[in-house]
Amino acid sequence: MADLKLALLINAVAPAVGGVLVRGEKGTAKSTIVRALAALLPEVAVVTDCRFSCDPDAPDPRCPDGPHGDGADGQVRPARLVELPIGAAEDRLTGSLDLERALTEGVQAYQPGLLAAAHRGVLYVDEVNLLHDHLVDLLLDAAAMGQSYVEREGVSVRHASRFLLVGTMNPEEGELRPQLLDRFGLTVEVAATRDPEERAEVVRRRLAYEADPAAFAADWARAETELAWRIEQARARLPEVVLPDGALRQITAVCAAFEVDGLRADIVMARAAMALAAWHDRTVVTADDVRVAARLALPHRRRRDPFDAPGLDEDKLDEVLENTGGYDSAEPQDPGFGEDTAPDLVPEQSTGPDPKPAPETDAKPDSGTDPEDPDPDDPGPDDGPGGGPDGPGDPAGPGDGAPVDIEQALSGEESGEGSGKRARGDSPEPAPADAVYRTRVFTVPGLGEGAPGRRSRARTPYGRTTGARPGTRSVHLTATLLAAAPHQRARGRSGPGLVVRSDDLRERVREGREGNLVLFVVDASGSMAARQRMRAVKGAVLSLLLDAYQRRDKVGLITFRGTSAELALPPTSSVEAGARRLETLPTGGRTPLAAGLLRAAELLRAERLRDPARRPLLVLVTDGRATHGSPADALRAADLLRGVTSVVVDCERGPVRLGLAGGIAARLGAEAVRLEELAADALAGVVHDHRAAA
Ligand SMILES: [Zn+2]
Repeated sequence: MADLKLALLINAVAPAVGGVLVRGEKGTAKSTIVRALAALLPEVAVVTDCRFSCDPDAPDPRCPDGPHGDGADGQVRPARLVELPIGAAEDRLTGSLDLERALTEGVQAYQPGLLAAAHRGVLYVDEVNLLHDHLVDLLLDAAAMGQSYVEREGVSVRHASRFLLVGTMNPEEGELRPQLLDRFGLTVEVAATRDPEERAEVVRRRLAYEADPAAFAADWARAETELAWRIEQARARLPEVVLPDGALRQITAVCAAFEVDGLRADIVMARAAMALAAWHDRTVVTADDVRVAARLALPHRRRRDPFDAPGLDEDKLDEVLENTGGYDSAEPQDPGFGEDTAPDLVPEQSTGPDPKPAPETDAKPDSGTDPEDPDPDDPGPDDGPGGGPDGPGDPAGPGDGAPVDIEQALSGEESGEGSGKRARGDSPEPAPADAVYRTRVFTVPGLGEGAPGRRSRARTPYGRTTGARPGTRSVHLTATLLAAAPHQRARGRSGPGLVVRSDDLRERVREGREGNLVLFVVDASGSMAARQRMRAVKGAVLSLLLDAYQRRDKVGLITFRGTSAELALPPTSSVEAGARRLETLPTGGRTPLAAGLLRAAELLRAERLRDPARRPLLVLVTDGRATHGSPADALRAADLLRGVTSVVVDCERGPVRLGLAGGIAARLGAEAVRLEELAADALAGVVHDHRAAA
């Protein structure tokens, strides 16, 4: 939490830093803290009655409410925190040209949107990772140009829009597009605190509030006022802050060492370090400022792949800072802020104890006797002792928040082959996965109404116009005129211009794509467990998972082997979690196909209640054999899934084929695809080598 407050303060002092992305699990009060930020921002002077928050000293010459003369009336108001709901329509964000008034009253009217409201304030997006692509694009455009531009039916409006972008997200629910990630100046990981003393403080505060809400609020307001005053002081000091050459060299050295793209990181770091100096009542940037700035500005910029976990190697950071020439700060920390600026410098990467921590080990044959190997039972969030810089395969120790070695999982590298690693109970060692490839696209037929995504056809607020219906949300001009045309004589039209009434208005019906719930039901039994085959199966499922990630689906994973089925991954948008479960998937035993199908039917019934708009797509990966329970049971279980769009990936191989998967597919009404036909280009006759290079 200390880091979060610090990141917000830095932005309050220097909005040019560019906002904060807050990553963390649910229940960490991150939204509450962000919302409290607005009260701390200095007030802004605006032209009275200008809906676009023009500065009286420098009004926007192209302001839609302008032009404001030199002597325009000004007033002071608090800075705004404007929240963008993730499901907002485009008009809500950019504002709307009111064609209804244009047509019925003959006046041009522009209704400003959230981008106008947020100008000179904060634009806050809770669950920013779930924001629709279309809104993300508009946001990125506005952020890049510092203005918003709207055009409809040949009429256009442009207004200034510069804001602090603050977003929160739960990484378990999916990652952010790199372009958007880069837009955030700073990033902070928050976790529910596990320090008993900190927890006690939270409880104490809560009790104090309940005992005397009025006094508590007064105390709080006093602290807030003081903080706001300090921010204002720091802002005033900022222009005097000097960035010495030594500090600048450190910044560029750190950015180079962490291999960030472009110069944006260097600039953000410099701005953040200067803001920190101003906050600490100094006019010279110190090495401490640089270090804190690096910790907040770099973690999300050094990432290479959407599957990489965030975080910054602090040892490496220290090493680079030290090597960049004896530049040091002798200045003491500001005593009034000491508890917030001197937090434990380990980033809070942890996202909570995993109920089933996967045994993270390296490729050593016997991890128990290796002195460099971190204790696999240590649940601590800090780097394990073996987590040296760029250490292979285990960059952040064995913590539950440790990055999954997805790259290895995806590349099918065989570093653990034959080493006995990941032995788990009685199960045989999991087979590695073949390399991923682009798969064929499976969709749910019909027209859905689910969350925006990139899989099945759906009615959405965006996308291509396919028709019109009565309404005013997004006016369809031609349809409106056509609706008005037959009534012109009856309405007594005499001169030029149509007589249009509000019930003539037609809005667009649009069609786009939705994300689905892709439920994998994977046969992990002995009949599938021949090592080569399991590698191919895992490669296939990983490929489908990657596809689901790109299409913004939710994914779930049920596996069955032995005598029962297991929900290995409850429906989530976190594909990383799916890949992790798959990597350690135990195999062997009998084939309880019926149990797997029953479990799937149960899960889908529950999900239908929870999220009725999200249509499921079932992917059954099996050779069709059922050796626990009778084949008839399996067919009866399949009946429970009728009506669910399904795909059966037939894993049977060899010269003699029983074609059992085909029977199940027929019963499910599913499309049956042979494992080797799953690749997108398999049908085009292109030989696609999806086997691992090794
Ligand atoms: Zn204005």
